[in-house]
Amino acid sequence: MKSKGKVYLVGAGPGDVGLITVRGLECLQRADVIVFDLLLNPALLRHARADAELIPAGKRPKNHLLTQDETNTLLVKKAGEGKVVVRLKGGDPFVFGRGAEEAGELRQAGIECEIVPGVTSAVAAPAYAGIPVTHREFASAFMVITGHEDPTKEETSVDWAQVAKFTGTRIILMGVERFAATAAELIRHGASPETPVAIVHRGTTGQQRTVTGTLGDPPTEVSPPSVIVIGDVVRQRESLNWFEQRPLFGKRIVVTRSREQASELVRQLSELGADVLEIPTIRIEPPKSRAPMREAVAAIGEYDWLVFTSPNGVDAFFHEFFAKHKDVRELGIVKIAAIGAATAEKLAELHLEVDLLPAEFTGEALLAEFKKSVSCENVKFLLPRADLADERLARGLEDLGGVVDDLDAYQTVPETDDRTGHRARLLAEGADIVTFTSSSTVNNFCELVDAKALRTKFVSIGPQTTAAAKARGLEVAAEANVHTIPGLVEAILNL
Ligand code: SAH
Repeated sequence: MKSKGKVYLVGAGPGDVGLITVRGLECLQRADVIVFDLLLNPALLRHARADAELIPAGKRPKNHLLTQDETNTLLVKKAGEGKVVVRLKGGDPFVFGRGAEEAGELRQAGIECEIVPGVTSAVAAPAYAGIPVTHREFASAFMVITGHEDPTKEETSVDWAQVAKFTGTRIILMGVERFAATAAELIRHGASPETPVAIVHRGTTGQQRTVTGTLGDPPTEVSPPSVIVIGDVVRQRESLNWFEQRPLFGKRIVVTRSREQASELVRQLSELGADVLEIPTIRIEPPKSRAPMREAVAAIGEYDWLVFTSPNGVDAFFHEFFAKHKDVRELGIVKIAAIGAATAEKLAELHLEVDLLPAEFTGEALLAEFKKSVSCENVKFLLPRADLADERLARGLEDLGGVVDDLDAYQTVPETDDRTGHRARLLAEGADIVTFTSSSTVNNFCELVDAKALRTKFVSIGPQTTAAAKARGLEVAAEANVHTIPGLVEAILNL
């Protein structure tokens, strides 16, 4: 029997990726299909399954995307095929943005539908600007209004006379383009020209910008998406403004690590207020030919030592291993050596102990260990490594008398996909800082972008990476003292 599909109408929150709900995140992680609004933070899509189908919806000025009707039809179709569909919408799905219409269509088509509320920008953008929507002394109610319509039109669905009389906080969405007219209309209906106003552009993101004024002298030069807040609570910003005061606020910083490895650096920089552009330069792929690894895995019983030089090698080897064997005991009594704490950790996740781990994380140190404590004469080694791995380790083991199969377990290829649109943003808007965490990030970044033409500072994690940058003609503004991610962040803070 075919399983029944279902649509989850999920609120993505206002922009900050941390502001999606736990329930929303669960749905994202499970979805077969995700239909998402372009306005929302593309970094959220990181939580999607690798094989999930991602479909952008909603109109954008130039490139035509799905219209509302097409979106509804698509949701019905995909759920009809038995798929788990997430319709991801900015903020809360039922605060404007036509969530109710989508849900209505689905129900009419007999499709099961669940609503996952989200944090609305109407409340969150002001909060990130240091403006509470209610306050015991200054506002005991708030209203959220669409500013989409021309306020001077005869027939409007918003009663601006009522809005002018309202004594609580007034919050307008979709209204910046018409705000001069709206403010005039409110004054005409009796609102005080002295009423404080704040406009928060791209609230809760690294691009947040807040301008303040009054109804009589409204802030201008703000573009969508923005939330307008009208009322005495705006004055609270003077003491409560927090988000915009963090050390890296307003700094646009590029992270060039692979998507899988970037998260810790991205988290730390975002937490300090930076607008982080994730532009992965490297991607891990299966080797050009999988046959040698397949054969090695099938004949694993013939090897004495398995030598891993990177976490990626561990992943790649066991991917092939479990494609062939159902039972981990097929590994037999092969011994395991590893270079690096991260590699050993990856093995520990599989509940495998490392028999040999040199104190220093280099091939030479591993060779020295073998030379000291293991007889290598006619011993068979399997080295599942990257395609371009340094050959010295394999040669060294052979010199000790070993028989070595040095196999391509994976390859690193330049990442050219720009799913999140961050590379396009870098080219269009520039950045303050580009971070490099290895020489391959330097080299691949330079292949992707004309790095020398960027007017940015380059910050490196350590001497090898710095050397690679210099070789590319880039001037390094700072190098981490401690060659770790926190060390790199420290170097940025000290710039
Ligand atoms: N359902 C959404 C609103 C959709 S209408 C929600 O609950 O937030 C789109 C409007 O939302 C925009 O025109 C803008 O007024 C507002 N908006 C959405 N995200 C925003 C953000 N990060 N900063 C400021 N305004 C935002």
